[in-house]
Amino acid sequence: MVAILKHGVTEAQIESLCAWFKAKGLDTHVSKGHYQTIIGLIGDTSKIDTDLLEGLDIIEAATRVSEPFKSANRKFHPEDSVIAVSEAVRIGGGSFAIMAGPCSVENEAQIIEVAGGVKDGGADILRGGAFKPRTSPYDFQGLRAEGIELLLKAKKETGLPIVTEIMDAHHLELFENVDIIQVGARNMQNFELLKELGHTKKPILLKRGLANTLKELLMSAEYIMAGGNESVILCERGVRTFETYTRNTLDLAAVPMLKELSHLPVIVDPSHATGRARLVRPMALAAAAAGADGIMIEVHNDPANALCDGAQSLTPRQFAEVAAAVRRVREAL
Ligand code: PEP
Ligand code: MN
Repeated sequence: MVAILKHGVTEAQIESLCAWFKAKGLDTHVSKGHYQTIIGLIGDTSKIDTDLLEGLDIIEAATRVSEPFKSANRKFHPEDSVIAVSEAVRIGGGSFAIMAGPCSVENEAQIIEVAGGVKDGGADILRGGAFKPRTSPYDFQGLRAEGIELLLKAKKETGLPIVTEIMDAHHLELFENVDIIQVGARNMQNFELLKELGHTKKPILLKRGLANTLKELLMSAEYIMAGGNESVILCERGVRTFETYTRNTLDLAAVPMLKELSHLPVIVDPSHATGRARLVRPMALAAAAAGADGIMIEVHNDPANALCDGAQSLTPRQFAEVAAAVRRVREAL
């Protein structure tokens, strides 16, 4: 971190500022120019508040030169992290995973049929929402605990590991046999939930918030990792912009950017990113081409009558074609 001092600051003021930094465990490097003096701070500056520094009347600006996320940072962990989901399924470090399934688990017949369909179509992991974060309280809220039971049945029947969303840490015991716990976009900054998940040993799929920066996403990953759980998978699922033809705007540059900044695997959800089934294929291919470590696609056996997100859901047959095309893009790379 560097602190740029205001013009005309006295020697005594510089000394007393340096003493204050020393008391915080930091070394200082003072560089005096003709017009301005800059203090370079050496050491762990993660607990220093730049806004507080800028509030001091002798400081013009304070800027971080290293990122505040340490555990997620590629600088301190140059190799890709590989998340082991099951014996057979890994994500990251060259292993690509396709997650697919309905937006929400609706009943036993539906989840069993979709699970079999996505397995035959090339999915590695079954997705399905049991606890659903819906904008309206009058919309279908998910089957909750029963939804997880049905997912576990589908897991048993197909052998596919499962991923499902948690909305409240009080529900954690229901997730005991879930393979990946999803934190949805709306909870990306639910810090108490993230802290609790940091104390588990489960892989966490962390989705980017509706209007969050990549730095904020990485800081949320940091919350989980700081608690001791290093198994975090990041997910780009589009962000809210002024565009209205698509549900969200897929920020594909997030993929190479996040992979440059972090060693964590990055996957893309083209379904929530576009909101339209016909846009899922081109964006899934683009995600693979951009270097994603996986994709998550919503699939329903009867999209027209789905209780949630039918417009963006593929049929199992459409999914199989997209999954095969995505694998071809991977091979071409
Ligand atoms: C989901 O994946 O079911 C979901 C609700 O997505 P998001 O949190 O990205 O909106
Ligand atoms: Mn959905």
